[in-house]
Amino acid sequence: MNVRDSEVIAGLLKQAGYALTESAEHADAVIFNTCSVRQHAEDKVWSEIGRLTKSSRAQRKSAAGKKPKQKPLVGLVGCMAQNYKEAVFERSPAVDFVVGPADIAKIPAILERLFSARKQSGGSSLYEVKVWETDAESRPEEIYHTGYRQDPEQAYVVISEGCSNMCAYCVVPFVRGALRNRPYKEIVREIKEAAAGGRRKITLLGQNVNAYRGDEGDFVALLRTVAQLKGVDELSFITSHPRDTTVEIFRVMAEYANIKPYLHLPFQAGSNAVLKRMNRGYTREYYLDLARQYRKLVPGGALSTDIIVGFPGETQEDFQQTVDLVRDVEFESAYIFKYSPRPHSEAYAWADTVEQAEKERRHALILDLQKTISRRKK
Ligand code: SF4
Repeated sequence: MNVRDSEVIAGLLKQAGYALTESAEHADAVIFNTCSVRQHAEDKVWSEIGRLTKSSRAQRKSAAGKKPKQKPLVGLVGCMAQNYKEAVFERSPAVDFVVGPADIAKIPAILERLFSARKQSGGSSLYEVKVWETDAESRPEEIYHTGYRQDPEQAYVVISEGCSNMCAYCVVPFVRGALRNRPYKEIVREIKEAAAGGRRKITLLGQNVNAYRGDEGDFVALLRTVAQLKGVDELSFITSHPRDTTVEIFRVMAEYANIKPYLHLPFQAGSNAVLKRMNRGYTREYYLDLARQYRKLVPGGALSTDIIVGFPGETQEDFQQTVDLVRDVEFESAYIFKYSPRPHSEAYAWADTVEQAEKERRHALILDLQKTISRRKK
């Protein structure tokens, strides 16, 4: 999702007459498109901003005799922006603008305003302007049609924004808002544009992609429509929620040769007690049945998943059920995460009961098991 959002931002800026540079040292503005899904992702952004500030300060110092280059404008965009809003300026004074995920259409105008304020002040830091925009509830459609894409063969296409699921550990509904479906026709138009430009691989994107309900059809209908479009040689979608995944999707996958036989289906935890506390809306038995149906209806199809270890209250027995599920399903690959409390989420208020060392142990154990399975299945 963030890869596509970065493309959208770059496309909007190109339309406004800006050009991309290869390195931050040469840039007049640096924009960090951020993720809040785990603490680790946020920590990396704060340290990258610190590194950039330090290196541009050093650059200015070493410009002895010459007119020193001004510090680039620094923007913090995306989920962290929505999460921390104007508090970002206190945490990191080097940041000049903060823009939430639904407000990205405003970035060119914000840059314009900041560059002209700099010009008027003659570069004096006494008149520094800070801007934050985190109020929009949806994005204008045009932002998806700038024509700019990084990859000459692949196109990511957002079909829905936000999520209304409220999994207890997740910050997404708070930073990306409730689920909003893009109009069916607009999605199809964007895919036709991408295919006409030579992008023959299409990936449909949504936080909960198969919850899509458009004005002219649901996810299954959209999948069928896109699979039949001229120029679409490979079609995939991410991320599926088990609760909204139906066998009908598997049937469509098997029916069209250009739909990639690959499903990313996060199960998160193998114990029903933990799944209930996570508010995932399905049981272990339901998930196992879905995985079996997938294996049966999409022969040779790959299956990957996400797993969280150390969720509040996860006992040794709960964890063992996660291990057993991994053994039983034999995923082709898995992304395994140690739980970290996210502000705003329901579980943030709960005691983080599993010690860090125990989270590490559980993480390593599942990782080892998955590596063995993945190697065997190659
Ligand atoms: S489905 Fe759950 S984990 Fe996924 S984005 Fe929505 S709230 Fe977060």
